[in-house]
Amino acid sequence: MDLGIAGKWALVGGASKGLGLGCAQALAHEGVNVIMVARGSEALEASAAELRRAAPAVQVLTVAADITTTAGRAAIFGARSDYDIVVTNAGGPPPGDFRTWDRDAWIAAVDANMLMPIELIKATVDGMAARGYGRIVNITSSAVKAPLDILGLSNGARSGLTGFVAGLARSPVAARGVTINNLLPGAFDTDRLKGTLRNWAQKGGTTVEAAADTRRKAIPAGRFGEPAEFGAVCAFLCSMQAGYITGQNILADGGAYPGTY
Ligand code: NAP
Repeated sequence: MDLGIAGKWALVGGASKGLGLGCAQALAHEGVNVIMVARGSEALEASAAELRRAAPAVQVLTVAADITTTAGRAAIFGARSDYDIVVTNAGGPPPGDFRTWDRDAWIAAVDANMLMPIELIKATVDGMAARGYGRIVNITSSAVKAPLDILGLSNGARSGLTGFVAGLARSPVAARGVTINNLLPGAFDTDRLKGTLRNWAQKGGTTVEAAADTRRKAIPAGRFGEPAEFGAVCAFLCSMQAGYITGQNILADGGAYPGTY
């Protein structure tokens, strides 16, 4: 299927690794020019160089910046301001016990996982509407639908974003070619998941492989997702064909969430 988005410009946050990189790769393979953002320039440049080799027809630019800060976003919009596609993404907050989280911990989570996407949307949505096409995909988490107590910082901040998006997606921008959706990963094979499994293994006095097996068995698909699969869903949500899908929370979790909606 030709997604009809070749030549568009995409901003992809958290794009040096994992799910963000999967999205950048899938968009570039559809002919979309991408601006990849991450803090660490070494991994970012290495991933960008590989993508330039794999998709030589598109422009792949990088901005090494913290997307959760005002200065970081200024650098991103200094590179370009009229993005057609925005994939909001940064690292998730750490797990823990809410009794140990102080105001600073909450502010950091809200900054990264609620206000960062809202600021990126604010900077781009009206331009998209004026040009008659826009796709915003927020990478959130299956924990929005199936919250775990240890992920309280993520549940809290991301639920705020989810509520905001539900309203904005149905505002007049919807009639002007702009869709805004949240893409909710379950367990995907990324550095972040590896870190979580290491923690579980340490706490449970078991091996990382045993912790991974237990986790896989809880997923109907019997495996972790691949970032490329996630990226393909993201690219479809950015396609011309997906123009009638907006305000949705789309799970990619191998069937782990047991509900019907
Ligand atoms: P990952 O493999 O750790 O990759 C995170 C990427 O984001 C890296 O490129 C990282 O590069 C970048 N990043 C982190 N903080 C940033 C910041 N402040 N500014 C700019 N770039 C930043 O993580 P992932 O698994 O892809 O997860 C992506 C998102 O999905 C996270 O919010 C995570 O909580 C959520 N999620 C993931 C899973 C899963 O199973 N993987 C499940 C549920 C939810 P630098 O560190 O160099 O900046």
